[in-house]
Amino acid sequence: MNIILLGAPGAGKGTQAEVICDRLNIPTISTGNIIREALKTGTEMGLKAKSFMEAGQLVPDEVVIGIIKERLAKDDCQNGFILDGFPRTIPQAEALDKMGIEINKVIDIEVSDEAIMKRMSGRRVCEKCGASYHVEYKRPAKDGVCDSCAGALVQRKDDHPDTVKARLEVYHNETEPLKDYYDRQGKLSVVEGQDTVESTTALILKAIEA
Ligand code: AMP
Repeated sequence: MNIILLGAPGAGKGTQAEVICDRLNIPTISTGNIIREALKTGTEMGLKAKSFMEAGQLVPDEVVIGIIKERLAKDDCQNGFILDGFPRTIPQAEALDKMGIEINKVIDIEVSDEAIMKRMSGRRVCEKCGASYHVEYKRPAKDGVCDSCAGALVQRKDDHPDTVKARLEVYHNETEPLKDYYDRQGKLSVVEGQDTVESTTALILKAIEA
């Protein structure tokens, strides 16, 4: 099954993608994680993306479309995948259609801007493996240390409040129109983001199985 997770930055797409990926045994593809990795290793693509990402802006379509094309061609995607953070614009969604890849379900996780501001200021991510934590809602066993790989937990530059505001604006202008795009294709399910990860997961799994 080929699934897209839609939602504002901080709506919980990454966390939910990890859970669904385990349940359905299909890989999660996060363009954000791929770009961050490129940034860390200093590739040309990473350098191109850096200023956009740090300002809370979208990386140009042609860059992310290239990333996704390459990633979806790999063997592990043949039985399905979960896209987390792609597409984020109508041209990106059109590019996916043009690649001839059929999307089965699009799950939109709805969370208010106010709740997102609160969530993102407390978010911490593992420097090494990218796993996501929260100082209030999803604490690691040991403060500041990743449960999976013992890497250091840090705040992403783009999770700072001013950047979050900019990212929300970009989301409403550029990404939200995708809800209509997929609704017209009969693929959209809207799920209200709940207070706990588990209850949101339950709603998402129900929507996937429907
Ligand atoms: P994320 O981790 O998904 O929130 O992505 C972090 C940042 O990476 C975004 O704020 C963008 O700058 C960039 N990015 C990730 N995915 C995309 C995409 N599909 N289109 C454009 N920029 C993206």
